[in-house]
Amino acid sequence: MTAQIINGKAIADNLLQDIKTRVETRIKSGKRAPCLAVILVGADPASAIYVRNKRLACEKVGIRSIAHDLPVETTETELLQLIDTLNADSGIDGILVQSPLPKHINEEHLVERISANKDVDGFHPYNIGRLAVRQPTLRSCTPYGVIKMLKTTGIELMGMDAVVVGVSNHVGRPMALELLLAGCTVTSCHRHTRDLADKIRHADLIVAAAGKPGLIQGDWIKPGAIVVDIGINRLPDGKITGDVEFDVAKERADYITPVPGGVGPMTVATLMENTLLALELSETK
Ligand code: NAD
Repeated sequence: MTAQIINGKAIADNLLQDIKTRVETRIKSGKRAPCLAVILVGADPASAIYVRNKRLACEKVGIRSIAHDLPVETTETELLQLIDTLNADSGIDGILVQSPLPKHINEEHLVERISANKDVDGFHPYNIGRLAVRQPTLRSCTPYGVIKMLKTTGIELMGMDAVVVGVSNHVGRPMALELLLAGCTVTSCHRHTRDLADKIRHADLIVAAAGKPGLIQGDWIKPGAIVVDIGINRLPDGKITGDVEFDVAKERADYITPVPGGVGPMTVATLMENTLLALELSETK
């Protein structure tokens, strides 16, 4: 049996449409549009594409975006000053710093400097902590996007044995917390995990976020499992691929996400939703 391919792009487009309507309703009632500040340091081509996609999504839904495209030699002190200015600006609802950053900048310092209530990436320790204590506010875009995608597909997560491969602060760790919140029994795997294949073979749901093409072999997948591939890897021939051996896995899984066109668009749509939410929450204070 061949798996149903989860069309993340279509689900994300619906979500963007819904956000657009919510923004239009605000404007009609005399309220202002949300505003996102996007900081890009240097000229990494992949980062430039991600930032462009985020700005295009802003345009699509009626969110203002303000570009801070800075030269690669920008110092950490200068970036921290910019973040302080944006934190203090009541017209800015969300602040996003595109990673990766040049090596002389400590990303964690920047993440922690962003006001938790403008942290639309959901990376700030406060927001990760809120998720950990089951009171999520601004949630990390990729993991929360995965949850919304699975729920929209009609997948009931409660009670599932889930394996997350990858434990990074921005993706794997909050993904495990999201799945725990959704009622899964979660196993987190990483580069020191012994016998990854054995963990995968027993999983009802696999979420791959290692950034290693083909790491998850297709014949490890339990028949009927759900496979979510967060990985984005560029092969030497320029093609983009995930972490899962897709062609074999899709013959065993019930549901599988493609790369590209799966999780990526959900990440961007969730960023838009978070920016709107950040503004809405600031109005209730
Ligand atoms: P990272 O390098 O920070 O973390 C990778 C994680 O994978 C680490 O926790 C590491 O322990 C684990 N890992 C590495 N090799 C492993 C192995 N052999 N076995 C088990 N675990 C292993 O990367 P990240 O920022 O978490 O991103 C992970 C992937 O997700 C990348 O490909 C990235 O491009 C992609 N990504 C996609 C989206 C999206 O929207 N689809 C968003 C963010 C990141």
